[in-house]
Amino acid sequence: MYFLTINPTVLLIKTFNDKNMKTNSISRRDSIKMSATVAAGLLVAPLGAQSLNKNNVNQLKLLVVGAHPDDPETGCGGIMSKYAKNGHEVVSVYLTKGEAGIPGKTHADAADIRTEEAKKACDIFGVRPVFVGQIDGNTKVDAEQYDGMFKIIEKENPDIVLTHWPIDTHRDHRTCSLLVYDAWLKSGGKFALYYFEVMTGIQTQNFNPTDYMDISDVIDIKHKGCYQHVSQHIEEDYFNDLLHGKMEVFRGMEGGYQYAEAFTLQMQSKKMTL
Ligand SMILES: [Zn+2]
Repeated sequence: MYFLTINPTVLLIKTFNDKNMKTNSISRRDSIKMSATVAAGLLVAPLGAQSLNKNNVNQLKLLVVGAHPDDPETGCGGIMSKYAKNGHEVVSVYLTKGEAGIPGKTHADAADIRTEEAKKACDIFGVRPVFVGQIDGNTKVDAEQYDGMFKIIEKENPDIVLTHWPIDTHRDHRTCSLLVYDAWLKSGGKFALYYFEVMTGIQTQNFNPTDYMDISDVIDIKHKGCYQHVSQHIEEDYFNDLLHGKMEVFRGMEGGYQYAEAFTLQMQSKKMTL
């Protein structure tokens, strides 16, 4: 386990390498970068040169790719808010507009409603939404969609991408994960790839996190963003039937924080000092 605190503008992350929480192996290159980071009091992007932002920190670009409006928010609203707050560029990518997600509404009406909800959430987090254009409940994994996802990610040119863990009860979540994984392979591992979880136990399965992000200081912003999804009854269910709230508390207990989000690093991906 390593525990890195740099300065208030920097994100804090704990990495648990195995069941025994042995010291995570950090390459000499990473360690030099981390030392330089601490010495300079700056967040250093280990993946290459980024421009300085208004907070005088090297700017990273974080891309979260989820299947439906509310997936990026409930799974990654904390890390998205935290990155945006610290001056980094964050993009929330939605594979579909949630066309099948409001009983009694046509696909077109549901898409309009849920697109607006996603845009409101993104405004609250300070992130930019992108809509891919697949259809909720009928997402496809084929050559065309692989190519489309690759082009979107290539154009955005992120340093870090977070997407659904591939073992999930929802087909669209699985589709999303495979498309992003393929784009990562095709890019030659250009960006760091992490998986996120949604409603673990009900949707995400077999998820064993490698990284924990302390989201305690942005928990209210995260919840406010998630609650914009009125059509999904997120606010009513957040701490009850749905497990969004319980996950934040449970991952916090595991990671040693009040509230946390957990991620799993693609094992052959480059790592980021988040
Ligand atoms: Zn979903």
